[in-house]
Order: sequence, then structure tokens, then C-alpha cells
Amino acid sequence: MGEFALIDEIRRRCALARPDVVLGIGDDAALLRVAADQELAVSMDTLVAGVHFPLQTEPFDIGWKALAVNLSDLAAMGAAPAWATLALTLPQADRDWVAAFCDGFAALARPHALALVGGDTTQGPLSITVTVHGFVPAGRALRRDGAQPGDAVLVSGFPGDAAAGLTCVLASALLRATAEAERAELLQRVNRPTPRVDLGLALRGLATAAIDVSDGLVQDLGHIAARSGVAARVEAEQLPCSPALAAVGDAAQRRQWQLFGGDDYELCFTAPPAALPAVHAAAAAAGVPVRVIGRIEAGSGVRVCDADGAEVSLQRGGWEHFA
Ligand code: ADP
Ligand code: MG
Repeated sequence: MGEFALIDEIRRRCALARPDVVLGIGDDAALLRVAADQELAVSMDTLVAGVHFPLQTEPFDIGWKALAVNLSDLAAMGAAPAWATLALTLPQADRDWVAAFCDGFAALARPHALALVGGDTTQGPLSITVTVHGFVPAGRALRRDGAQPGDAVLVSGFPGDAAAGLTCVLASALLRATAEAERAELLQRVNRPTPRVDLGLALRGLATAAIDVSDGLVQDLGHIAARSGVAARVEAEQLPCSPALAAVGDAAQRRQWQLFGGDDYELCFTAPPAALPAVHAAAAAAGVPVRVIGRIEAGSGVRVCDADGAEVSLQRGGWEHFA
């Protein structure tokens, strides 16, 4: 099977009609329409085999995750997903692999009404780059630079689950020590992360700053602090812990995963105390748990404090390529 048969397979499995797609896959470029009162949010992420997912990952999960990590960036901007392009580099033209990959991609694209409108298909070591495009009403995007001293710091879901799940995959001792139900739950968090798109949309006009947690909570909150010119204080005792995470490792290891683990694709955001009732209502409507984990102060950097107020020494940063 050659390049063009592969592209046909991709189009067949990922097809989705939208009125703003004038021309999709099949020409030299896609033709797309943006409404006059909207800004276009554009984001790109690459997944490299062995770096962003273990080599034994199922192609369905790779397709899901390649889109999920991108939708997570749109969620963090408060943007509504619209279109995607896909650059697929494959070691060989394996129809079954591409079919399963596309089914995973489409399983997440369909509920978000996201249309795959183009891409590129090449031969080489397995690597997937997705670019997503979304809409946000002009001037209403959630940015990293709006946090103010006095704001609460919140996080959605359960950061740390994905890092614990990945450790289960890679460390056989922990794998054996973890019960089947918890292991399955944590692995699901690694392989099929849920981008918090609805929450991001609901936080427009409520959150003062937002980021998605891809590289670890402390590191990503640090980006909000730096861009906003403020400090963030996290209360370690307030960090949410899922029932599955509570059953794995010891307390010190769990805290390490919660603070520094990557790949969770939750939202970390700030909001003034007066907006918190509306934030909690918005989160409940989106069906996503959110929790206050700290506050914004004057200064710079991220501090993590214990129940007695003592600062926890931070030994390790989040994920950084080339570090
Ligand atoms: P060109 O040679 O003009 O760049 P290609 O032969 O690479 O065009 O692609 C043909 C059509 O198929 C284009 O519309 C392109 O966007 C689309 N396409 C190619 N690869 C992919 C892919 N992996 N996913 C989605 N669309 C693709
Ligand atoms: Mg061309």
C-alpha cells in the first residue's frame, strides 16, 4: 500500500463535515472560513515513539493521544475545537496500524466536531504531529499572563495519575505491587487523557489565567507565575489524590507524581475569590472536579508548603526536552 492509499484510508476514517470547511483533504491546501468576530487559536504538538509514548502503545491510543494533547492546548485557551492537520511519519505503510490509529483519532475528534482537513504522510521513524485550530470570541481567550495577587490557584482532575501509570508501565516492581483495577485506571490516564475542553470554554470570563498541565504541575504553574509577574503558593495538603493514585507507591512518591509528573492534561488556572462560586458551578456543569490548591501572591516563582506552613524543598523540575 502506497502513500495515496494511506491518505484515502485516513480520509475515510476521519471524515467529518463542517460548514466552515470549504475544501478538506484532497487538494494542495484546505480552504477554511473564520467568522469575523472570532479569533483563531492555533497549536501544534508532536509525539515521538519512545519519547512521548512507550513503543508498545496500541495504535488506537496513539491516535487518541496525538489529538488529546492538542485539544488540551485549545482547552487551556478557552477555544472551541474546529479543525486539525496531521503530519504522519511511519516506518512502513501498515494499513491495520493506520486504521487503528485513525479510529483512535476519530473517537476523540467526533464528539468535538473536529474535522481533519489535511496533512502530510512520509516514511521514517514513527512520529506524529497534529496542528489544531479553534475559535474564541475576540479578546476572550484564557491566557497565561492574567494572574493577580489574591487570586486562588485551582486544578482540575487528579494530576499525578498519568506519571504513576507510566511508572507502572516502565517499572515492573511497581506493576506487580499495584492491584489490577488501579493499574487499569492509571494506564487509562496515560493512554487516553481527557482534554478539558468543556471546562476551558466554561472558564471564559471567570479564570484570570490558565495553562494545561502537560509537563508537571509545579513547572506549568511556574509558567503562569512568570508570564503574569507574580508568585504562586501551593498547599501540598490540598493537592487532589484519586482513589487509584492513593493505592500506589508511598506518600513521598505520590507527592512527587502530583507535583512533578507530566502527561495529565488537566487545567491549572487562577480566579479571584469572588468568582469561585461561579467557577465551581461551571466545573460541575462540565462534569470535571476542580479544587483550590493555593493562591497567587506578589513576587516570583512557585512555593509548595506543608500543612504547618513550612516550605517543601523541591528537588525536581518537570519534563523538559534537551535538559
Ligand atoms: P502535496 O504533494 O500537494 O503536498 P500530498 O500528496 O502530500 O499533497 O497530500 C494530498 C492531500 O492529502 C492533501 O490535501 C493533504 O493535505 C492530504 N494529506 C496528506 N497526508 C495526510 C494526513 N496524514 N492526514 C490528513 N490529510 C493528509
Ligand atoms: Mg501540492
